Order: sequence, then structure tokens, then C-alpha cells
Amino acid sequence: MKKELMTRRQAVAGLGVGIAGLAVSPAFATDGVAFSAPAALQDPTTKYPRPPFKPQQQPFPGLASKMDPRPDHGEESYKGSGRLTGRKALITGGDSGMGRAAAIAFAREGADVVINYLPAEEEDAREVIALITKAGRKGYAIPGDLREESFCKRLVEDSVKRLGGLDIVVSNAARQQTKPSILDISTEDFDATIKTNIYGPFWLLKASIPHLKPGSSIIVTTSEQANDPSPELFDYAQTKAANTSTVRSLAKFLTPKGVRVNGVAPGPIWTPLQVGGGATNEKLTSFGKATPMGRPGQPAELASIYVQLADNSASYSTGQIYGAMGGGGQP
Ligand code: NAD
Ligand code: MG
Repeated sequence: MKKELMTRRQAVAGLGVGIAGLAVSPAFATDGVAFSAPAALQDPTTKYPRPPFKPQQQPFPGLASKMDPRPDHGEESYKGSGRLTGRKALITGGDSGMGRAAAIAFAREGADVVINYLPAEEEDAREVIALITKAGRKGYAIPGDLREESFCKRLVEDSVKRLGGLDIVVSNAARQQTKPSILDISTEDFDATIKTNIYGPFWLLKASIPHLKPGSSIIVTTSEQANDPSPELFDYAQTKAANTSTVRSLAKFLTPKGVRVNGVAPGPIWTPLQVGGGATNEKLTSFGKATPMGRPGQPAELASIYVQLADNSASYSTGQIYGAMGGGGQP
């Protein structure tokens, strides 16, 4: 029996052999409900690296494994408690960043997970599949480009086959390439951003919806850029406004059918998106400094939001956007 997780009866039985001697007495829960030892307080301002960061650039889409410091996706820290046991999840952009943090957390909560990513990200994807397997769940890798409608359809069909159904869809993949202004964005660039961030989710969700039974959950990663666009992210920001609109519109269509749709709006988060052309070195070196937290977020800090939105306990939450912005911005 582990000391940190036990029922009241077990705790009472064990009082004489150690618990009674603890300086801080544990809070007792009702009969049969597990409780934990008091969690140590963590100061969020000093919990993770703060700027200045080293300048660094990678070719798009970038690898988490080559970032310095390496992002924290919860590899060492996320602890599950069976909240998603037996659930079947598809996550786009599941190799790195928020998608990877969600994949690790979902698996540790008991879900089987398909991750989609670009072929160039195979190295990052392998690490995620290994972590899902280590959590005792099934992990499937389906690489491919979401800018193609035929691939989006195949991704959903293959996911349903491999998982034996589908009840969590996380539309999270995105392209962000910084350019000084609208004047520097070519038609080709604009097209690539719109295809990845608007058409991709449209095709993915359209193909997924017929498979989703009541109780299923759609989660779309949007951004603070949806409401407060930066001039150097002209094309990207408008796709994030579209993602937010997708959540609000789809929720009106799907909530009466028992399928919840919510969004997650991150602020500045330390991911390959930023070093793979998403930010200039000037922005990267002071990344996150302008937030009240004074540092960027790590993907691990958003994992529990994705879990909560997928969990049955969030049954009245739909059509909402959940922010994690270090004290700045508005979801
Ligand atoms: P990330 O680079 O780790 O994830 C983005 C993923 O998108 C990539 O891993 C890649 O697999 C996928 N992708 C890109 N183009 C694709 C394509 N054509 N086909 C298939 N997959 C493709 O970065 P991240 O920051 O974790 O991004 C995840 C989400 O978070 C995105 O929607 C992004 O807009 C959003 N977001 C990020 C930040 C931030 O500061 N990092 C802030 C707000 C919102
Ligand atoms: Mg990636």
C-alpha cells in the first residue's frame, strides 16, 4: 500500500504505523474515496525557465528534441487518475507542444491515442508513442499532411479502425510563420497557413463528427491571437479567430446531440511552433517576458485543461474557450 494514496479505512488501519507521526495530518475524504498527501506549493513564477533564452531557429516544423531548453510536456510530472479510462482520442500535432502534453496526459488517464504529425517529425512522434505505451495504453502514429482533404478523411477512418471508435478529437495542429507585416506575406504563404489552420480542422472535424456518440468531446487549440492579433502574425492570427469561431458555432450544432465542443487558448508557450519560423530570435530571447508571469508557459501546464475538457465531469462546459496565458491576454 502506497502511503500517498489510500482509502480512509486503510489510513485509519495504518494510523499506528506512521501516519500519526506526520507533522501535517492528511485531510480525510469520505469512505472509499482516495486522498493524497498534501501537495507542496509551487511558485508558478519560478517553476520553469525564464527569459533570456538562447537565440535558436529550426526549419519548419521544428523538433522539440532539438530545443534548448527542452520543453516540458509532462513526461516526468503528469500523474493520471483514471479520468479517461477506455476513451479513444485522436490528436493532431500530437508529436510536440500542447498536442504531446495532451497525448501523455490522456494515456496516463487511461485513453488510447492516435497522434498525427508531419513526416519530418517522426523523431518526436516516436518518443510520444513510447510514452503512451509505457503508460499501458495503445498509441498509434499516423503521419500525414492535413492540407489534403483526402488525408484528413483517411486519418479519421484509420483512427476509428485502430481505436475501435472515436470519442475525443483534439484539433491542435497549426502553422505559424512570422513576417514583418501583410506586405511580406506571399500568396503561397497565406495559402499554406489557411490550408493548415482552417481547411485542416474543417476536413478533420467534418469527417469525425459522424463517429462521435453522445458524451464525446471536441477540443480545438486556438490562441490569444484570436482576439489580440500581432501585426507580424497577420495570417496566423486570423486563422485562430476562425478556430475560436469554429468552437462557438460547432457547439451550437453539436451540444443538443450530446457532443461538447471547447477551445484552449494558450498565450506564449515554449514549443517548436515558435522556433520553427514562428518567432524571430529577437522575440524568442525574451519570450514570455511581457506576461505578468514573466516567462513563457510550458506545454505541461496546459495538459490538465485538455483532460478536463474531455472528462465527463465537465458535462456543462461547451462552446467555451479556456485560456492559459500567464496572466495576460483574454481567451
Ligand atoms: P508544435 O509545433 O509543437 O505543434 C504544432 C504541430 O502542428 C506540429 O507538431 C505539427 O505536427 C503540426 N502541423 C503543422 N502543419 C501541419 C500539417 N500541414 N499537417 C499535419 N500537421 C501539421 O507547437 P504548439 O505551440 O504546441 O502548437 C499547437 C497549437 O497551439 C497550435 O494550434 C497553435 O496555434 C497553438 N498555440 C500555440 C502557442 C505558442 O505560443 N506555442 C500560442 C497560442 C496557440
Ligand atoms: Mg511537432
